[in-house]
Amino acid sequence: MPALPLFVWILIPLALAIGILAGHYGWGRRFVRRRGRMHPDYLAGLDFLINEQPDRALDRFLKVMDTSADSLETHFALGSLYRRRGETDRAIRVHRNLLARGLTTEHREQALLALAQDYLRAGLLDRAEDLFRQVSEGNRLRSRALEALRAIYERQRDWPQALETYRRLEALDLVPPRAVAAHYLCEMAAHALERGDLDESRRLLREARRRAPAFPRAALLRAQVAEREGRGALALGLLGWAVERAPRLLQDELAHLLRLAGEEGREKLLDDLVLWAEAREGSELKGLVYAVLAVAPDLAGRLRDAVERVVAREPTLHALHLAAAGAPFGVFAAQASALLARAETHRCADCGFTARRFYWQCPGCQAWDSFENCVIIKLR
Ligand SMILES: [Zn+2]
Repeated sequence: MPALPLFVWILIPLALAIGILAGHYGWGRRFVRRRGRMHPDYLAGLDFLINEQPDRALDRFLKVMDTSADSLETHFALGSLYRRRGETDRAIRVHRNLLARGLTTEHREQALLALAQDYLRAGLLDRAEDLFRQVSEGNRLRSRALEALRAIYERQRDWPQALETYRRLEALDLVPPRAVAAHYLCEMAAHALERGDLDESRRLLREARRRAPAFPRAALLRAQVAEREGRGALALGLLGWAVERAPRLLQDELAHLLRLAGEEGREKLLDDLVLWAEAREGSELKGLVYAVLAVAPDLAGRLRDAVERVVAREPTLHALHLAAAGAPFGVFAAQASALLARAETHRCADCGFTARRFYWQCPGCQAWDSFENCVIIKLR
């Protein structure tokens, strides 16, 4: 059976509801002119509905709706139903129709918020932003408007505005996790670093650390600043600290660590990493082995024992290892490296989005700090 169009689901119940309420509550006079006779606009609306002209039907219904409390509720319910179904044009018409009437301050704010949500859903971010700003000046719906603004600024990657909105939420004692503000500051520090403004970058990173002490992302960026300043040992120390705090960074940062350690220091660095990983119960060793195979297969022989233990638990790599039995270990390492170069190595724990690189904010669901390591090997 083909799906019935939305207007059948919305407008027929709505028409019935209006008819019934008109009879019960006496806002009847607008719909029922004299006993037993419906308002002509209501009848015309039904006629358009029956003839499958939902927009003309909506026109008629909007015309007969007044701004009594019952009618307002119906407006808001109808508008949000349209928005949820993605019919934003109709939702916008319903809410604009409301705003064109004389509303109390409270209902006006509610209608502005609803219209802003329609614009947001329609992807009209500038218009949504304007209206959310207006609502955020009032008291009643301020926190909802500010949360929506914060999400818009994140989408636009407008980090200073996102931070400013975070501060306004902070003033209301309605703060998102402190690390979110630290991420905004890190985004701004990364931009400053791109421009070559090391002083500003350091200042922003200090503020990030004040917001979220022991914050690996700030250490990672501070390491980049130190490297630009020619302070390689400091950079190596900061990067090592960041990876220890957040082992999920190892996959992306191992090459950088090895580069900072230099030719003479890389084997010692690798030995230290193996000691560190083996002393932990989690997936650190597995992460280290995958990272070494992916970015430094020439060094994999140095931790051959650990590689073989980890590989034995991954069917594809295990099969590859068995097939290469008899050949030098380096042959297997090079083959594994080629396979891992095509693997998805990171996944969002919140929405399951997978990627070949690490993201601080998930591109799929916009959650912060939700990425973890995984290995999904794709065979061509
Ligand atoms: Zn996600």
